[in-house]
Amino acid sequence: MNRRSFLKASALGLAFAASPISLSAAGEPTRQTGRSGRLNLSFEPYELKLRHAFNLARSQRTTTPDVQVRIEYDGLVGYGEASMPPYLGESVDSVCSFLNKLDLAQFSDPFRLEEILHYVDSVAENNRAAKASVDIALHDLLGKIMGQPWYKIWGLSPENAPNTSFTISYDADPAEMQAKIEETRPFKVVKVKMGVGHDKETVEALRRVSDVAICVDANQGWTNKEEALAMCEWLAERNCLFVEQPMPKEMIEETAWLRARSPLPLIADEFLQRLPDVIRASEAYDGINIKLMKSTGLHEAYQMAVLARGLGMRVMLGCMTETSCAVTAAAQLSPMVDWADLDGNLLIANDRFDGIKIIDGKVTIPDRPGIGVELL
Ligand code: MG
Repeated sequence: MNRRSFLKASALGLAFAASPISLSAAGEPTRQTGRSGRLNLSFEPYELKLRHAFNLARSQRTTTPDVQVRIEYDGLVGYGEASMPPYLGESVDSVCSFLNKLDLAQFSDPFRLEEILHYVDSVAENNRAAKASVDIALHDLLGKIMGQPWYKIWGLSPENAPNTSFTISYDADPAEMQAKIEETRPFKVVKVKMGVGHDKETVEALRRVSDVAICVDANQGWTNKEEALAMCEWLAERNCLFVEQPMPKEMIEETAWLRARSPLPLIADEFLQRLPDVIRASEAYDGINIKLMKSTGLHEAYQMAVLARGLGMRVMLGCMTETSCAVTAAAQLSPMVDWADLDGNLLIANDRFDGIKIIDGKVTIPDRPGIGVELL
């Protein structure tokens, strides 16, 4: 096959890969490319070392469990990753046990994305990070076969990628607090996590030295709707952009009450995981926070973003503590969203990949095929 007909076949593949309806016919493009073989899945646990310990209520966390995934096909390798912060209920054992159940070698055509991912989803319930790792590796592989990054396959303009936020936490020592503020300087948006004490002090410390936009993550911390409204009003006077998950996810009526009155948009995070949750979220929230480890990967994350837009909602893209593998995969979607919170790779000391760059506070997607990463 010459280069021209290969490109033509690849372009056909792009359309099929992006359109689930056409996927039943998707066997053709890969045959035209002359590729053959079976999907070969392999994986290994990889403990992420955090650059700074996470301070929790009663303990500190210095590592995050993670599993690195590869799918090989016809001489190409797609990379994926499952990151498992403990509160999500997955572990190295549960992810490896899920991946061990998979028989991807039954598939000889990686372009049958819909069929393969439907199979992966049907093997066991939940296991969202494990499913995401396969989805990400498969997207990486497909993009490499087509020779295109996913933002192009989706028809997105990389210059529309948003600024990303960087999280700051309170420190009682003024010098330490100042050092933390200095660390946020390259960023155009700073995220403050609330409900850990000193909420207003953190915002005030930042405001004394900077007019940087602030976004707030209450992490379900506000349980009184009147107090939540007073806090939203206080934050709105201080150039805050939005509040993420203001109240516990079960308090849907109270959140809807708050939304009707809050001067700031309310974004659902813990409330939602996957596609069907977007419609429920629209009843009480102005927007959603999509994360690949919740959505089971890029395929459903893209659908969630489209659905949220159709419902008139705002869209935010977040991540867990992850290597540049999963964060760069998420970045491929970032031109579709209003806000990005893609700093997970900056929080670890042992990243294995080169990928997403934050330049002048903005998400910058590498010009490489697939999800855009290279092993370091
Ligand atoms: Mg959050």
